[in-house]
Amino acid sequence: MSQSKTIKVTCPFCKKEHEFTVHPSLNVTLDPELKQKVLDRSLFSFTCPDCQKESPVFYPFLYHDMEKSVMIQFCAREQVEGYKKALQDSCEQAKDLAKVDMFKDYRYRIVTDLNDLNEKIYLFDAGLDDHVVELAKLSVRFQLKSQHNIEKLYYQKDRKDDLLLVQSEGKFIGTVPLTKELYEAYKTYYEERKDTEPFCIDENWAASLIMQEPEVPKA
Ligand SMILES: [Zn+2]
Repeated sequence: MSQSKTIKVTCPFCKKEHEFTVHPSLNVTLDPELKQKVLDRSLFSFTCPDCQKESPVFYPFLYHDMEKSVMIQFCAREQVEGYKKALQDSCEQAKDLAKVDMFKDYRYRIVTDLNDLNEKIYLFDAGLDDHVVELAKLSVRFQLKSQHNIEKLYYQKDRKDDLLLVQSEGKFIGTVPLTKELYEAYKTYYEERKDTEPFCIDENWAASLIMQEPEVPKA
């Protein structure tokens, strides 16, 4: 079930205080309308009834998709370690109580950026493994290195095509295809290694996996 509560927010423009509904827990299987509101950010947008200006309100929340067996915690960077511990504890409790290995059946992720959250939602919806996508991103980053100063790559689906959206100098400058060949090559690479980090799967994670094992597949 989704949870919501009302908090007081102060409009940054006119400084008046108003109520705002936050959702510390979102179950998008039971409340599918909330999913679109996460993706388009309307859930984090406060419109001041006094001055009509819009401002963002961010707060930690758990995104839960029962169909895809995915839980994604969104929080501030300094809260990551706390949420890691809390998630680990609740998984261990479930193991003791119900003899359910939640790690086996579920993917738990922690993200600190809403762009990263959207990306995880899109790639899990597409049935992809985020470990493999992060490894493939490193390869694409390496290939584009001489042409662009790449800040970040984001997975995106355009109709049937898997793409990586390229962000450079604060702007999105285009897309490159995430080919089946590249994905499959890194899928094999990942399956031969595996890894124990369950929560923070990003390019840093991918870089540390590759560092341990310098042989990378060619695609
Ligand atoms: Zn206002």
